[in-house]
Amino acid sequence: MVWDEIIGQAPAKGYLRTTLTTKRLAHGYLFSGPAGVGKRSAAYAFAQAAMCYAPIELDTPCGQCKSCRWFAGRKGAQIEHPDVISLLTFSKGRGGGDSSSRMEKRVGDQDPIIKLESIQYVCEQLHRSPMAGPKRAVIIPESQRLCKGQAEPANAFLKTLEEPPASSLIILTSSQPEGLLETIISRVQTVQFKRLSSVEVGEGLKRRWAGMEANDVKLAAALADGSIGRALDLVGGDLKIWRAAVITGLEKFNAKTFLLFGAALWKLAETEGVRLYEADKEAQSEEDGSDASEESDEIDEGAAKTAAGWKRHVFTRMLALCEVCFRDGLVSAASGMNSNAPLLQPDRPDFARALGAKFGAEGCEKALRALREAALAARLYVRGDIIARALAGRLRDALAHE
Ligand SMILES: [Zn+2]
Repeated sequence: MVWDEIIGQAPAKGYLRTTLTTKRLAHGYLFSGPAGVGKRSAAYAFAQAAMCYAPIELDTPCGQCKSCRWFAGRKGAQIEHPDVISLLTFSKGRGGGDSSSRMEKRVGDQDPIIKLESIQYVCEQLHRSPMAGPKRAVIIPESQRLCKGQAEPANAFLKTLEEPPASSLIILTSSQPEGLLETIISRVQTVQFKRLSSVEVGEGLKRRWAGMEANDVKLAAALADGSIGRALDLVGGDLKIWRAAVITGLEKFNAKTFLLFGAALWKLAETEGVRLYEADKEAQSEEDGSDASEESDEIDEGAAKTAAGWKRHVFTRMLALCEVCFRDGLVSAASGMNSNAPLLQPDRPDFARALGAKFGAEGCEKALRALREAALAARLYVRGDIIARALAGRLRDALAHE
């Protein structure tokens, strides 16, 4: 059942299903909420239910008809459905001469901005009659990209939103709705999606990675900040390596070599960031709408698909890993080194105890504050090497006095 595939989000799902059962479908929706919590999956589920040729109930698609089968065959934003419009990016064909007039098209669901010609294409397609079912739908992920530093695309789209064709179903998603024009928001129904609990994130991880170790599920869920997309990023193979590096760094941390820790942290973020950037470029050129990218609609952070964006991405994950370590250190120190204290990394009780002893409860709290501020600075595009050095200094100041 399509709705069961979306974890948590009961109020949003309830609202959408009610609009289907009461036949009060609006033309436009904005699915708003943090990145990686299921907005995009919900958008496709909703569209599938609205477009099914033979629904079991008004809110329950049959899963068997041609339309449902097209939805089932979707890969990322690539879908064969003739009435689901994909956001395409147009570029000049490769090579000069004759081919220069030919336009290449590709699905542009991850581009940093949505260009005028892409949105014009969508609007034009929406005005055509449905080929088979009752509706024609478009799903625009991270729709604030329409309004980023440009007026024409948003204005072109606004015209269609003002007088939408009767058959249209327009679903915008956004993790930064403040970046959307008020005039766009006022013409769509906003559906709010929430940060998931770490139990829900863990549930999502187990569904995707059936064989995942319980410890890894717990750790990734704790690190993911309510986002399945982020958790999937973390278990994508790198979490263990990064965690080992962070733990080793903190084990060696002392008042003399603290700067080395900062330098090593940033160095690893740089190397790993470049590696992931290269891997991502390769994956892009293979043009497979891979499933892992499905939930991570973090276009800005993960990111702008630049090497710098990927470095920042790794760096913030490593800061989060440090945070997990200090949370365990704090629990350990505050519970008088009680061996039954609930840890986020239950497989490393000795490390938690040692860190707790090295920094003390107060020092761990100071370290946690410093880490949160470092993460904020990283989000504000402060240079990573500067953040890492300042962080190392603050961690030294947080060391317990002997
Ligand atoms: Zn169906």
